[in-house]
Amino acid sequence: MLGKIALEEHFAIADTLTDSAGFVPESYWPELKSRLLDIQDRRLAEMDKHGIEMMILSLNAPAVQAIPETARADEIARRANDYLAEQVAKRPSRFQAFAALPMQDPELAVAELERCVTTLGFRGALVNGFSQIADGKTPVYYDLPQYRPFWASVERLGIPFYLHPRNPLPEDSRIYDGHPWLLGPTWAFGQETAVHALRLIGSGLFDEHPRLEIILGHMGEGLPYSMWRIDHRNAWVKAPHKHKAKRKIRDYFNENFHLTTSGNFRTQTLIDAILEIGADRILFSVDWPFENVDHAADWFNSASISETDRVKIGRQNAAKLFKLNMPAAARGRINQAAE
Ligand code: MN
Repeated sequence: MLGKIALEEHFAIADTLTDSAGFVPESYWPELKSRLLDIQDRRLAEMDKHGIEMMILSLNAPAVQAIPETARADEIARRANDYLAEQVAKRPSRFQAFAALPMQDPELAVAELERCVTTLGFRGALVNGFSQIADGKTPVYYDLPQYRPFWASVERLGIPFYLHPRNPLPEDSRIYDGHPWLLGPTWAFGQETAVHALRLIGSGLFDEHPRLEIILGHMGEGLPYSMWRIDHRNAWVKAPHKHKAKRKIRDYFNENFHLTTSGNFRTQTLIDAILEIGADRILFSVDWPFENVDHAADWFNSASISETDRVKIGRQNAAKLFKLNMPAAARGRINQAAE
């Protein structure tokens, strides 16, 4: 399929680059480093080669979220956002932007989000899970009451919020003791992010702000597969969940969430996601530069789904969600690579 839009695609600036070291063997670091620092060269060639018309770019992880000193977090977020705005301005038909946000301080986060959306023309925000505050050993999750004004701003601005993974802090990782292989994309990213998403839902956030649009990567971080069980455990016991949300968890999942295919190129998993949340809420993504563009595109172009769903997931859903004023490329041209 040609004309794809991809939206979990990362870059780094010098200040955040080393946050991505350690996720690949040392011998691969020079390659990953050059992929992260490049925007207009190798990345563009990969997009052209594999039918990606646009990438919506975001900073690497955990970056801003792992800087406990609030002023410094704000400074790095602004620096990254300014750099990204310059890069997007060079090729706005190929690149758009997600804001990095200093969530350590909800008021600063609102100010930077408004600057990015209204002044720099960014399409949304991408935040790397919880933020570290104080001594750096304290994670804050965004279901907490101090973040309600932030969510009101996100809803008012009408932009999507991408909840991207990070690892739990060492203090909160005892379950992985002796098994460091489970950290990162293998397992810990998904568990951490899925629980954060469930905290947002359970807190009643979407009763208060029903127009919020949250995006989860990696085909939903395992949530589609568990969605029925979350609401129905021990159904014979007439004891409803004690969360604050007024409806079933799946109601919010289906109305306030979108999933991307980033880093999870598996047709069985995609079909499960389609059955749970519907093809209108799934969007193509790669997770470049941590995953290869060809691995994502070759899989997606030939996955056993309908051509209607392929065009929705590959392009139309993103154009609609991000209000991208893209010319509707001819259907034959879009499907060329799949046939
Ligand atoms: Mn990613």
